[in-house]
Amino acid sequence: MVINTGSSSLKYQLIDMTNESVLAKGVCDRIGLEHAFLKQTSRDGDPVVIEKDLYNHKVAIQEVINALTDKKIGVISSMSEISAVGHRVVHGGEKFSDSVVINDEVMKAIKDCIELAPLHNPPNVVGIEACQAIMPGIPMIAVFDTAFHQTMPKHAYIYALPYEIYEKYRLRKYGFHGTSHKYVAERAAAMLKKPIEDLKIITCHLGNGASICAVNGGKSVETSMGFTPLQGLAMGTRSGTIDPAVISFLMEKEKMSVKDISDFLNKKSGVLGVSGVSSDFRDLHEAADSGNERAQLAIDIFCYRVKRFIGDYAAVLGGVDAVVFTAGIGENNSIVRRKVLEGLEFMGICIDWDKNKVRGQELDISTPDARVRTLVIPTNEELAIARETVKLLK
Ligand code: AMP
Repeated sequence: MVINTGSSSLKYQLIDMTNESVLAKGVCDRIGLEHAFLKQTSRDGDPVVIEKDLYNHKVAIQEVINALTDKKIGVISSMSEISAVGHRVVHGGEKFSDSVVINDEVMKAIKDCIELAPLHNPPNVVGIEACQAIMPGIPMIAVFDTAFHQTMPKHAYIYALPYEIYEKYRLRKYGFHGTSHKYVAERAAAMLKKPIEDLKIITCHLGNGASICAVNGGKSVETSMGFTPLQGLAMGTRSGTIDPAVISFLMEKEKMSVKDISDFLNKKSGVLGVSGVSSDFRDLHEAADSGNERAQLAIDIFCYRVKRFIGDYAAVLGGVDAVVFTAGIGENNSIVRRKVLEGLEFMGICIDWDKNKVRGQELDISTPDARVRTLVIPTNEELAIARETVKLLK
C-alpha cells in the first residue's frame, strides 16, 4: 500500500507487486472537515464515493482498510494481505539520502525536519502514526521527496549567504520531486537501452508544482527547487526565483507581514498571478486563444524559464544525452513542449513535431538523427514508492 498524506486529504494505492498492477486506488478528502468522503476506484469497477465523517487521519485509514476489504467494492479479504506500507514523506533534510524502514529513530528524525517543511511534514507524520495504530506489525517505509537530491555537490546546494546560517539552520538547497525525477530518469535509460551510469539526463517535472533536475550517471547533481519548493521555475501559483530584494520592497510598500508575503509568493503568484486567469494551463490556453494577452504572457514566462534551465543544466552536465518531460504539463501539453524546445536545435535537440502531439504516454519525440533524445515519460510516483518499499523489504 502506498500512502500520500496531506493536511486534510489522504491518497492511497494498493499495488500487487508481483506484476505491478494497481488493485485499487482512492482518496479520503476533507478529513477533519464537514462533508468528508472516501472515493475508491477498484481495478475492475467504477469509482465509488462513500460519504463518512472522517474526524482525523486515523479514522480515515480505518475507512480505507474497510473499503479495501469490503465484500462489494473491496479487492482483498483481510488487512493481513497488505505486506507493507510505503509513505511519501516530503522532507528528509540532510539525514536521509535514501528510503528507510520506519522505526522510532526514523520517526524522530522526520519530526526534526518539521521546521524545514512546516506545511508538509506534519501531515506525513500524522499519516504514518495513523497507519501504525491501525496496522500494527505491518512494516512501514518512508520515501522522501528530497532524498534523490542528496547527491548534489556542496557548491550546488550552498547559498551564497554567510556560512554560519547553513550551520545554524541547515539552510541550503534541498530540492523536491526527487521520487519523480529518479523514476523518469531510470525509465529514460530503459527506453534508450543504455546503462543510466553512462547518461546525462535533464528531467523536467512540469505540473502545478514544477522543477528541473540534472541527472549525471543516475545521480541528481543540480535541481531548480531550493530550501523550499518556491525556488526555480514559475509555477501554477508560485513565483519561482525572483530578486530577493523584492521581498523587503513589497513588505514595506504594501505593508505585508511575513505570512502575507509568503502567501503572496506561494499562492498568488506564478502563472495565476501574471495572467489573473488561472493556475491551470488548460484555462490559460483557452484565454490566450481568445486574445487574453496576460494569459499568453504567463505561458511565455513559464516556457522561457524551462528553456533557460535546459541550457543551464546542459552546461552543468557538460553535455546532454536526453531531455525528459513529465507530470501534468510535461506529459500532456504539446504547446508548452514546443515553445520550450524550439530553437534548441544548436544543442542537438531536434523534434518531430508530429510526435510531439503525444499525450500521456512514453514516446521518443526526437527526429531519428537528433543527437539529444527528447522523451515524454508519464511519471508514476506511487509505483516508484512501491518499488522502494519492496526493495527495502528484501
Ligand atoms: P499536475 O500538478 O502534475 O497534476 O499538473 C497539473 C497541470 O497540468 C495543470 O496546469 C494542467 O492544466 C496541466 N495539464 C493536465 N492535462 C493537460 C492537457 N491535456 N493539456 C494541457 N495541460 C494539461
